[in-house]
Amino acid sequence: MNQPAKPAAPKPAGRAATKKELPEHFKGYKHVWVFIEQERGQVHPVSWELMGAGRKLANKLGVELAAVVLGPAGEGTTAVVAESFCYGADLAYVVADDILADFRNESYTRALTDLVNTYKPEVLLLGATTLGRDLAGAVATTLLTGLTADCTELDVDTDGSLAATRPTFGGSLLCTIYTLNYRPQMATVRPRVMPMPERTEREPGRVIEHKLGLVEDDIVTKVLKFLPDRDSAKSNLAYADVVVAGGVGLGSPENFQLVRQLAGVLGAEYGCSRPLVQKGWVTADRQIGQTGKTIRPKLYIAAGISGAIQHRVGVEGADLIVAINTDKNAPIFDFAHIGIVTDAIRLLPALTEAFRLRLSPHQRDRLAG
Ligand SMILES: Cc1cc2nc3c(=O)[nH]c(=O)nc-3n(C[C@H](O)[C@H](O)[C@H](O)COP(=O)(O)OP(=O)(O)OC[C@H]3O[C@@H](n4cnc5c(N)ncnc54)[C@H](O)[C@@H]3O)c2cc1C
Repeated sequence: MNQPAKPAAPKPAGRAATKKELPEHFKGYKHVWVFIEQERGQVHPVSWELMGAGRKLANKLGVELAAVVLGPAGEGTTAVVAESFCYGADLAYVVADDILADFRNESYTRALTDLVNTYKPEVLLLGATTLGRDLAGAVATTLLTGLTADCTELDVDTDGSLAATRPTFGGSLLCTIYTLNYRPQMATVRPRVMPMPERTEREPGRVIEHKLGLVEDDIVTKVLKFLPDRDSAKSNLAYADVVVAGGVGLGSPENFQLVRQLAGVLGAEYGCSRPLVQKGWVTADRQIGQTGKTIRPKLYIAAGISGAIQHRVGVEGADLIVAINTDKNAPIFDFAHIGIVTDAIRLLPALTEAFRLRLSPHQRDRLAG
């Protein structure tokens, strides 16, 4: 007599897909690469943060860490390459061509995909900046590989795969995504999510220069004029040492000025929770959280903010979190270092006044710097 079929065993929690044998043409892919984002010689700090994260991955995999620098020929690009060794690069891949003077998706995608196809990295990391997101998506689709965007954690799995973790379902869950059967495994990470590594003075090491072979006529997009964004210098939330932020608990746009006043006295940047942007009280570049900026200040003061998970993920890296909230059960008190249960509308002016009396302009600069 036939035995009734046993019900299938439940799948173990954890990785849902298994790694197939990598196709032959992917087996040679090795080493960890970090795209060093620079515009006019200015490196975006997220690139150095990624060098720190890339170093850990490379050490776990027992491979080299390479910096990838694209830019115009000349001293600016050479200086960026040299700097990448001070942040731990074992070697650098460089495409120095005047066609890369300004970021254009076509030329940068071509340069980066050429490098990948020639030198075959197993992991490629980029900053989740405006430029990095544009480039990463185009490179991944051109190479037909997987890309995990806005990661909050990067690790190496037991079989050597990149485990890229990011929030999902509106930030209520974290999921770990693998690119098991394609190469390279690509990920983007937002500024300030990874800690900044120590910079160590080092002589430049191995540099591999690659020729691009593009001419201006090959590129449809033309840069007619460069106009610096006058507003971009205004908000430096992601890299501020002191941040004061307000939420719905402040009750009105007028009361939000109390946050700006305290920030002014502390030489701090000001920010807000998402509903204040949605209400039109504060501009979007000031939003902190999962769909706003990630911050890592020495001091974060949150007034009238409940501490929803989507806000929490953007502030958890702060050294000291001070929360002001009327509700002693507000979730923000679960992760704040100092909690003050009171009315922020009354406390903020008192704090501002106390700091005004206490801090000389010199002390304020030190606190903010
Ligand atoms: C996909 C998605 C992405 C999101 N991204 C973000 C994001 O990037 N950033 C973000 O912030 N949110 C984000 N949110 C929204 C998030 O879920 C919360 O709704 C939001 O953070 C709540 O903002 P809040 O804390 O200002 O308001 P509330 O949750 O309404 O909290 C107000 C708090 O103020 C307190 N309060 C009231 N009066 C006073 C007073 N006088 N003094 C002091 N405290 C007082 C209350 O006790 C309460 O805790 C996102 C949501 C989704 C679904």
